[in-house]
Amino acid sequence: MKKLYGVIGSPIAHSMSPHIHNDAFKQMDYNAHYHAFHIEPDELEDAVKGMKALGVSGFNVTIPHKEAIIPLLDEVDEAARRIGAVNTVVNRDGVLIGYNTDGKGYVEALKEVTMLKNKRVLIIGAGGAARAIFYTLAKEGNIQIDLYNRTASKAVELIQEFSLNHLAKGISSKEAVNTMKDYDVVVQTTSVGMFPYTEESPFPLINIKEGAVFSDIIYNPIETRLLRDAKALGAVTQNGVSMFAYQAAFAFEHWTGQLPDTDRMKNIVKVQLGGISC
Ligand code: NAP
Repeated sequence: MKKLYGVIGSPIAHSMSPHIHNDAFKQMDYNAHYHAFHIEPDELEDAVKGMKALGVSGFNVTIPHKEAIIPLLDEVDEAARRIGAVNTVVNRDGVLIGYNTDGKGYVEALKEVTMLKNKRVLIIGAGGAARAIFYTLAKEGNIQIDLYNRTASKAVELIQEFSLNHLAKGISSKEAVNTMKDYDVVVQTTSVGMFPYTEESPFPLINIKEGAVFSDIIYNPIETRLLRDAKALGAVTQNGVSMFAYQAAFAFEHWTGQLPDTDRMKNIVKVQLGGISC
């Protein structure tokens, strides 16, 4: 019998997830279909019960439900519980289990462009994505992580909660601009620069470290203003397409036990965004 998977969120109409998961099912000859469900916050509890009653095999969870779904699940894995957000649910014989593949997906993507050991990293932002990324990066060990966020108190809270090596510190935007040349890797996790505000950047870049990597988790536009500015100063840059593909691939692995072709997933996202297929 065909298995059913999906994603719940609001808005959801333009989600890339059905494109990449349905293609992966087809590629791997897996008899399944993935569907996007528009679910508002006041429908979440019924939607989760419905997923279980209908025997949906697994689903992704996106904005605005990643945190709110936690108490509605039967089990939540350690990383997702610490991060405080679930983006993947597996239905194991009627037991709904929540996972977070955003952090793992991001770190896997980052490893495509740089080694992490002994690197000095600046994370911009302290929202849900930053929590997942900080938690997962801090567990890699031997990385010094500093954090800048518009609301400084949120950066301090995040550091206190997740800093495993006590090296992390919160910095102001002025400090970030002035000390940018000290960072090997800069990870942009805020929504600043996202379509349609594509000329915005968290701060101006004056001086960056030679060979620095700038990674922005935004994928629309494909190249944010920050990445454009960093590239002009000689940085290696990475957009959010890789993270998107890896978080999806790890969700797919939770559901099927198999890792799909992430390059194919990246290409589908780029094509959907009107970019160039490679
Ligand atoms: P979130 O929890 O709402 O956090 C938003 C973050 O952006 C906070 O740090 C917030 O700072 C900051 N921010 C928002 N507007 C700002 C502004 N005008 N100036 C300065 N800072 C501002 O959102 P999220 O879930 O972390 O998502 C953030 C971004 O990541 C979104 O663009 C999302 O599309 C992207 N994302 C990409 C992937 C991927 O797979 N590539 C996965 C997840 C998310 P304050 O704390 O000061 O409000």
